[in-house]
Order: sequence, then C-alpha cells, then structure tokens
Amino acid sequence: MQITEALARRPGGDFSIEAVELDEPRADEIRVRIAAVGVCHTDLVARDGAMPFTLPAVFGHEGAGGRNDVTGQPLLGWALEAGVLER
Ligand SMILES: [Zn+2]
Repeated sequence: MQITEALARRPGGDFSIEAVELDEPRADEIRVRIAAVGVCHTDLVARDGAMPFTLPAVFGHEGAGGRNDVTGQPLLGWALEAGVLER
C-alpha cells in the first residue's frame, strides 16, 4: 500500500512530503491507518542532531487513527479497547 511520509534528510532541513510503498504487516506487527499526525519538539530536536538519530528519517510519532483501520493481529500484549490500542 502507498503511504505519505515526512522525510528529514539533513539537520535543520525542511521535511520532504513523499509517497512510499509500505509492506504488509509481519506476524508480530499491526498497521493502523493514520488520519492525522503531529510533528513535535522532540521530532525537531532529533532532526537537528541534538539527540542521536540517523538521517534520513521519518518523523511524526503523534498520530491518530480509526478503530476500524487496524490491520494484522494485535500481539505482544496489545489490545484494541474503546478504539485505543492499549497494553
Ligand atoms: Zn512528541
């Protein structure tokens, strides 16, 4: 499936919005359709090299998805409760 990512290629550089192909979830993974995502201060600190992070990298770890958009088998202690994946 094709997804959109915000890719950082160099410290302090702009994010590049790109379409990429995402593999199907493996046996120990799930896929959640993300409706929106934020880029926070931690993302910017990592992009700018103030914490160890290898570039290029995809940032935006604060996503929100829908209850009916989970693909794969929740494993490793995760459960879908009230529309939220919980451990
Ligand atoms: Zn954050």
